[in-house]
Amino acid sequence: MQQIQMSELDPASTVVVATGNPHKVTEIEAILGPRMPGVRFVAIGQLGDFPDPEEDGDTFEANALIKARAALDETGFAAVADDSGLVVDALGGEPGVYSARWAGAHGDDKANNDKLIRKMVDVPDEKRTAHFHSTVVLVRADGTVLVGNGRCEGSIGHEPRGTNGFGYDPLFWPNDTPGKTMAELTPDEKNRISHRFHALEDLAAQL
Ligand code: IMP
Repeated sequence: MQQIQMSELDPASTVVVATGNPHKVTEIEAILGPRMPGVRFVAIGQLGDFPDPEEDGDTFEANALIKARAALDETGFAAVADDSGLVVDALGGEPGVYSARWAGAHGDDKANNDKLIRKMVDVPDEKRTAHFHSTVVLVRADGTVLVGNGRCEGSIGHEPRGTNGFGYDPLFWPNDTPGKTMAELTPDEKNRISHRFHALEDLAAQL
């Protein structure tokens, strides 16, 4: 990742994106950029090696705010962060904010998906509804906050299908793409229907 000296950046026209995922930076810049002319989006990793804050909030918004405020504190620049997860109706909203570490280790997608299959084994098709939720926040240097929310509606499959994407994608059948799991979509197809896309659009509409 190309490193940038913080002193080279103008605080009035820089937004730091608090994620280690380069795809998210591209997606955020593509949607928010046109509403923020002249702003340069930089990934936090381009500015130094900052520790990840503990995401111990109990809502998506709380966790997104923890990440964005930590990035603002560390850099002094306005910051964007997102937090997302899977919400399964038959499981009372689980895994929700615990999506990444539901089965124990953070980001163990295989273990998370195995747990989801196990927990849903007796749930009939009509009760397998679920959605992905995303909250994206922008915290400006003066501390003001904008919040965008988005959802992608669908249902939970019985076995994994597809190899694209990440997380719970192989078990998630979006309502918008009949006959295909989220993991069978190209990145472009996913970006057009995803919870993150809708959350970014919601935030962009407030700029
Ligand atoms: P994050 O907040 O985007 O890092 O997402 C937290 C966790 O939610 C991930 O580790 C995944 O388990 C799950 N998740 C979020 N977005 C997606 C998605 O688009 N597809 C599949 N799983 C997702």
